[in-house]
Amino acid sequence: MTHRIVFIPGDGIGPEVAWAARRCLDATGVAFSWVECIAGEAAIAKHGTPLPEETLQAIREVGVAIKAPITTPIGKGFRSVNVALRKQLDLYACLRPCRSYEGVPSARPGVDLVIVRENTEDLYAGIEFAAQSSEASALVQQLKRFTKEPLRDDAALSIKPISAAASERIVKAAFEYALAHHRKKVTAVHKANIMKYTDGLFMETARRLATAYEGRVAFEDRLVDATCMQLVLRPREFDVLVLPNLYGDILSDLCAGLVGGLGVAPGANVGDRIAVFEAVHGSAPKYQGMNNVNPTAMILSGVMLLEYLGEREAAERLEMAVRAVLREGKAVTYDLKPTRDDPTAVGTREMTDAIIAHL
Ligand code: NAD
Repeated sequence: MTHRIVFIPGDGIGPEVAWAARRCLDATGVAFSWVECIAGEAAIAKHGTPLPEETLQAIREVGVAIKAPITTPIGKGFRSVNVALRKQLDLYACLRPCRSYEGVPSARPGVDLVIVRENTEDLYAGIEFAAQSSEASALVQQLKRFTKEPLRDDAALSIKPISAAASERIVKAAFEYALAHHRKKVTAVHKANIMKYTDGLFMETARRLATAYEGRVAFEDRLVDATCMQLVLRPREFDVLVLPNLYGDILSDLCAGLVGGLGVAPGANVGDRIAVFEAVHGSAPKYQGMNNVNPTAMILSGVMLLEYLGEREAAERLEMAVRAVLREGKAVTYDLKPTRDDPTAVGTREMTDAIIAHL
């Protein structure tokens, strides 16, 4: 069977790592038909917008995309393409596996956990009001009628919506992911002792849904601050973590740091019918065209894509090839060498060649 996949090469180092992933995916022997689309700077030049409707439409129709990082122009009136993509396609679950690989310098060995982050609500919903704007002033006056808590007239406001429906679908996604990937435990992370209604609703929803998985997947819930400390001290106690948007964002970087940084952190944004696979890192424009960045995060995002397509054997083979190259530590990029100026470091293309040679 041939899989149709939307391919978005992105900005900065994007094309280099996107092609690295595409070459590895093709080399697995699985048949792909690539649908090339643009977003980011190339799309601004051609269509005057970083996220053209035809790219969105192609992803909707094909259902699966691999996307390289995209630069968010600062101060030009464009919002993040990545946030827009998640919103417009309702990609409500952000999956970020964090695994220690032999050969990758990391703070903690033996880590193997997955962050499942809610992508659509919380303080990230974009409902914000600037200090002293007419909206903020009106809201402050309104809120003063509802609460006795002190609230300054010149406060800026960000709204934190958490709904039962969005909490339900993300918690369910975490449990279903755990079942499909033979994971043993789901930990729901929150701050319900302080935010009783928003995080409280998230926590209660998680506790309620967990009962349907009793005997198949263990469940616990923990406070976000305590979880940060435990992740640093005892990360191997964690398996699948499910979190509202903001905590998910922060903890996924913390966990990427635990296992060796952005160069090895893959990800996916998934909805009910659509999935977009992408590395956690950004477009690192200063390295553009230098053939020196690490392709691992993007290639491991390709492994996730293979799993999503049901190509388990090819996914395992590609991950083993990545593992072998990392373990040998020879044909790897500068960031995986003991020092950043190590003359034996290879380029993005050469590391990709080495991975393909192990397939
Ligand atoms: P970044 O991840 O692009 O780079 C930060 C640093 O991390 C780099 O300078 C580099 O030292 C290192 N790094 C990143 N990827 C690497 C790799 N593959 N190999 C080796 N080292 C790597 O973050 P930034 O500088 O904050 O953002 C640059 C641009 O990327 C911004 O416009 C931002 O909006 C965008 N961005 C896009 C995405 C996305 O498309 N999903 C995600 C994050 C940032």
